[in-house]
Amino acid sequence: MKVETFQYCLPVNLIFGWDKAEEIGKEAKKYGKKALIVTGQGSTKKSGLLDRVLKLLETEGMESVVYDKAVPNPLASTAKAGAAVAKEEGCDVVIGLGGGSIMDCAKAVAFLAVNEGEPFDYIYGKKQSDRSLPIVLVPTTCGTGSEGNGFAVLTDDETLDKKSLRTNAIVAKASIIDPKLMTTMPKSVFASVGFDALCHCMEAYLSKTCQPIVELEAICGIQLLGENLLKAYNDYNDKDAWSAVTLASTFGGMVINQAGVVAPHGLEHPASGLRNITHGRGLAALTPVIYERSISSAPEKFAKISQLLGGTDETDCVAKIRELLSELSLTITLSEQGVKEEDVDWMVENAFKVSAPAIANHPKVFTAEEVKEIYLAAL
Ligand SMILES: [Zn+2]
Repeated sequence: MKVETFQYCLPVNLIFGWDKAEEIGKEAKKYGKKALIVTGQGSTKKSGLLDRVLKLLETEGMESVVYDKAVPNPLASTAKAGAAVAKEEGCDVVIGLGGGSIMDCAKAVAFLAVNEGEPFDYIYGKKQSDRSLPIVLVPTTCGTGSEGNGFAVLTDDETLDKKSLRTNAIVAKASIIDPKLMTTMPKSVFASVGFDALCHCMEAYLSKTCQPIVELEAICGIQLLGENLLKAYNDYNDKDAWSAVTLASTFGGMVINQAGVVAPHGLEHPASGLRNITHGRGLAALTPVIYERSISSAPEKFAKISQLLGGTDETDCVAKIRELLSELSLTITLSEQGVKEEDVDWMVENAFKVSAPAIANHPKVFTAEEVKEIYLAAL
């Protein structure tokens, strides 16, 4: 590895461990008196986690308001509405309780609660701010790694552009990462979020802006997932495997904060922005097709990925990934997820609009014509 100049700033207190979610009250109290809890309609209510968190906050003398409108692929308008609630209620800390979309929504809510205007003005750099309400995150899925970075992916209500707000202002003050919470995920959800985590680690490693600390974390993340993703998927009682996958997921979030993502994420966002597909499933359709066309641009890196996943060298890297996808029941195409052939031209154009940095960071720089071929091959 050639070591050049780099920066690595990630001011989040990562509190990791089985049953650590019990510390949410004590932790949140450090940052405010009245919390806005951003969550969804589903799992945190069914599992009893939301009630437990409300109680833990109350025990510490905190007030709380619940905003339960966060949904997968969160819209900018949903984040704005949450920010309005935070302002009306005088909340001084935001807690994100749920999966990646919910954490991203919580981060955007905290940002918009103290910054005027449209979220996409900040996303496209027309406006800038380094302020936000303090954020505490408690992930319940191990996929996006949002607890370890300053990204919040939103979808514009009108243009359907899906793109992340990126600023250290929305790095959480603290993220409580409790692997036990992950074990309430249904298998199909775990498969797609687990593959997303693997993609983050692989893509940051492949990125042209990968740097030494990212490389260490990314390689460690790929190895942890190679050794434990299927173990956890096949045995929900394998505590060590679940802890390993959860840690790898946080690494995934951390590495993309520094090195960004590459073509699979870049091309997935237009598909999920347009057709509201599940992110990890979109990646499952696109990743093997893109990697097949990329191996010769970074053979040593694809060889390393292959070895970390149990393969031999760059020649069987894509086969190892397809094998993993098959065991996770994720052998799937874009058309099976509602993407149509007539969407392809829009997606190609949109990819170069919302994902230009990801396309540029990829080991092989694809032309628009090549991106079109990829979408058609993944249909
Ligand atoms: Zn992702």
